[in-house]
Amino acid sequence: MTTIRSAVLASGNPGKLRELRELLKEQIRLIDMRELGLAAAEETGSSFEENARLKAFAAAAQSGLPALSDDSGLEVDALGGAPGIYSARYAGDDGNARANIRKLLKDLEGVPAGNRTARFRCVLVLATPDNEHAPLVAEGVWEGRIAERAEGRRGFGYDPVFLDGRTGRCAALMSAAEKGLRSHRGLAARELVRLLESRCAGTG
Ligand code: IMP
Repeated sequence: MTTIRSAVLASGNPGKLRELRELLKEQIRLIDMRELGLAAAEETGSSFEENARLKAFAAAAQSGLPALSDDSGLEVDALGGAPGIYSARYAGDDGNARANIRKLLKDLEGVPAGNRTARFRCVLVLATPDNEHAPLVAEGVWEGRIAERAEGRRGFGYDPVFLDGRTGRCAALMSAAEKGLRSHRGLAARELVRLLESRCAGTG
């Protein structure tokens, strides 16, 4: 097959667009779905992968272009894996990151550092219009823990309360390059590139 050089990103989240543009800049030019006037698909699935598939298929069908989706979120062990697929809407439908962080810190009040383990998970799906090629699915996981209080101004979403499991450094203090090396999204993006390359070489 010929390789995919550009795709519409099936997400209205500017943080995801910024990070994925940087992570995939050598391989795929990402078009903001808002520039094409595309509507966001309803996330009615019960897993990250189901939601990612729904979003990629809807954007590919609406635009007639290859579409990349990112469904991601935070799984906190002390909360039984919540907020998980509901991460964006944890404190309400408006998806306010500060309110989400406030609610998370409140729900974890009194939980000692050793029990604040958590992970970010990201599933990327690259789909073509009319299912010309089977969709590519790539997943990445970033292990860490939830801080006692927010710090840092970089990144987006829950970054101010997420501490890298290996270094203890807060995600919102990291440069884009540093976060990309460690993050769920960075891992998933590198896996997606491997899948694309092996498909183009006819081995995947
Ligand atoms: P969705 O994939 O659009 O359903 O929402 C993903 C949500 O998970 C975001 O709105 C954030 O709240 C959270 N999230 C995903 N990736 C990250 C990240 O890299 N940093 C911080 N929060 C994230």
